[in-house]
Amino acid sequence: MNVSLFPRLALFTGCVALVLSIDALAADLPSIKIMATGGTIAGRGASATEAGYEASEVAVDELIQNVPEISDIADVSGEQVLQTSSQHITPEDWLTIGKAVNQAVADDGVDGVVITHGTDTMEETAYFLHLTVPSDKPVVLVGSMRPGTAMSADGAMNLFNAVALAGAPEARGKGVLLTLNETVFGARDVTKGNTTNPATFEARNAGPMGSVFFGEVNLYEAPIQAHTAESEFKIDELESLPQVDILYGYAGDSSHLVEAAVTSGAEGIVFAGVGNGNFHPEVEAALAKAREEEVAVVRSARVGSGHVTLDAEVDDEKYGFVVADDLSPQKARVLLTLALTETSEPARLQEIFFKY
Ligand code: ASP
Repeated sequence: MNVSLFPRLALFTGCVALVLSIDALAADLPSIKIMATGGTIAGRGASATEAGYEASEVAVDELIQNVPEISDIADVSGEQVLQTSSQHITPEDWLTIGKAVNQAVADDGVDGVVITHGTDTMEETAYFLHLTVPSDKPVVLVGSMRPGTAMSADGAMNLFNAVALAGAPEARGKGVLLTLNETVFGARDVTKGNTTNPATFEARNAGPMGSVFFGEVNLYEAPIQAHTAESEFKIDELESLPQVDILYGYAGDSSHLVEAAVTSGAEGIVFAGVGNGNFHPEVEAALAKAREEEVAVVRSARVGSGHVTLDAEVDDEKYGFVVADDLSPQKARVLLTLALTETSEPARLQEIFFKY
């Protein structure tokens, strides 16, 4: 053999081996479906320093292309489920998203799901999915506080971290998760806590579940409440959800907002009461009347953390009121909306509120 061929042959063999090993590595990457719904993470502004921008402008393929580093950690595909700001999201949209996610997780070729979503009502969609996606596969919600065009935009890193989290074996079976700003939260307790800061999310009762730093996942906590795989709520057959209104308590409150909710057809009222879910006697009388008309009444609190306790200063048993435990008013509304598809019986509703 011509000796000068040796180095070329060695180079060729080396290249083949390298290509094969890259292929093998790619084969080991988790398959993550990115389901886009809009929000600031899909926003575009006129300049890097203006606070104003148009949300929900960037489509899912562009979102993925904008973070090419994702292909190093996952095999991703995209689906545009909605293209809206999350302040426009309705309970019917929760059903649309829930059904799309259920279809994705039922696919053997999908290891995890990332949902891009506006941050305003992300916590509500997250908890809805937490209650209605019967799967152990990671489902992660992500968004951003600044559009991609802004100086120091946070969306690209948040998306990269969300994909890493959705592909992490330790994220399986933890219920629906949410990540922004390197922090991981469980869907049940997480809440938006600042109108503009990228570190907006917090979990006032439970604390964060862990962190994702440049794609490195560390989870410390598991959710204690029932969720996902154990949840009793099935949405496949549902086309709409019952009307549940939230009313906010304050000093000098009166009965007219409760009356308006009942007149407009609410099947449930979540009352964000003062202190331990308390209210003015006029409100109490209006809520008692609502109960006579079979409207479900859940006492929550405007306080922001802690449990609302049964029969403390309010005689819940007498009226058939239910307490929200430590759910925020907006989370209590999500749960009541689903619970009312099964029952309106106060004792059973109370069981549901202590379980989920
Ligand atoms: N208003 C936007 C939304 O919720 C805010 C955001 O995404 O951060 O869609």
